[in-house]
Amino acid sequence: MVSAPGASATGRASQGARPVRNHYALSGLLRCGHCGTPMVITGGSSSSYYVCGAVKKRQTCPNRKSLREDTARARIFDALEQRFTSPAAIGFLRQAIVDELKRLSSSANAEVRERQERLARTEERRLLSLRSGSVQ
Ligand SMILES: [Zn+2]
Repeated sequence: MVSAPGASATGRASQGARPVRNHYALSGLLRCGHCGTPMVITGGSSSSYYVCGAVKKRQTCPNRKSLREDTARARIFDALEQRFTSPAAIGFLRQAIVDELKRLSSSANAEVRERQERLARTEERRLLSLRSGSVQ
């Protein structure tokens, strides 16, 4: 029993801490489907396995199942590849790009408009100063 976490990121890297590098791509991502404790690697001489961290450290979880690291990695990356290369995913990304470009364009247009208005006000003030003879 293994479950992947939701979309909640820990944000460790953005808090200034150095990212932890480890050998296993899924470390810290898999959780025990029974108790929710992060799965940890345990290794034999030929293969590594994910097991419930509560089982390995304190024997407090009844989930004694293990999952080969290479099998888990292959299955999860295959599923991700299929999901991110599906027509629906590509359509979603295209629309997100279009929406972002529209937002950026709108923002840039608003900034240009604001600067043009500010320039017009400045030119008007300068003209008034020239007419009144108090040129600065
Ligand atoms: Zn567990």
